[in-house]
Amino acid sequence: MKITFLGTAAATACPLVFCRCPVCASAWKTGGRDFRRRSSALVGEDLLIDLGPDLMSSAFTFGADVSKIRFLLQTHSHSDHFDAGHLITRLPDYATVDPLPMTICASPETLRHMSDALSLEEPGADLLSKDWQDRLRLSVRPLRHGETIQLGNRRVTAVVSNHDPLDGSLLYVVEEAGRAFFYATDTMRLTERAWSLFKARGFAFDAVAIDATYGPGTRGGGHLSVDQAAEEIARMRAEGVLKENARAFVTHISHEGMPPHATLDRYARARGLEAAWDGMILEI
Ligand SMILES: [Zn+2]
Ligand SMILES: [Zn+2]
Ligand SMILES: [Zn+2]
Repeated sequence: MKITFLGTAAATACPLVFCRCPVCASAWKTGGRDFRRRSSALVGEDLLIDLGPDLMSSAFTFGADVSKIRFLLQTHSHSDHFDAGHLITRLPDYATVDPLPMTICASPETLRHMSDALSLEEPGADLLSKDWQDRLRLSVRPLRHGETIQLGNRRVTAVVSNHDPLDGSLLYVVEEAGRAFFYATDTMRLTERAWSLFKARGFAFDAVAIDATYGPGTRGGGHLSVDQAAEEIARMRAEGVLKENARAFVTHISHEGMPPHATLDRYARARGLEAAWDGMILEI
């Protein structure tokens, strides 16, 4: 399984537009791994996790042909993960030529909020109506915690996240050819429902990408810090949820308390994780 990290930032991206701190100044100057776009990942060529606002520029920068996307796993509808402006271009009015059919998977709550966002772009748009799905040339597949579906040659399992219950936010396990990848942002501490599901299904992940919004020694709301992410990964290792040589990555990295990439990566590696970066390709 090939996973391309198209973005590894939290909602604010990094550098911050108006910030004059040394980390941002350095990121503007050097770019590379210190320059982070809003979180999104591509599995193979046709499965996208989160239709985020930076998709077009990151796809261009990293050479991903996003017109091949056939499946969209939407974790939730927050604006750093979902840009309705991209989705609306599938309407014939916007002259998109011959788009491939696409299936959107998300919780019912997220689908409703995505639809609300879509209706701000196009009055009357309703992602949940068959008529609008036909006009958008897509289908939707509501998912609940613990549900497993087949998408092409992959199996996808929805896992409840601990982030925004009103938005029904989900995390996803993607399995392909005996490999398993757990995409775990946005979330705070994983719920006991999630741990029970891992046990019940006998999941053993080859790779995990986990929310680490806040830097070392920094706390905030709705997300994990890099220290807390390390504790979640340690529990996964202890409980046999990770394979022996599994790799764990921090993603959804904010500007709050975060050092430059190289420093963060050293800090994470000392705790059994690595820091993901934009354009990173993971083969498992
Ligand atoms: Zn987010
Ligand atoms: Zn800054
Ligand atoms: Zn969020």
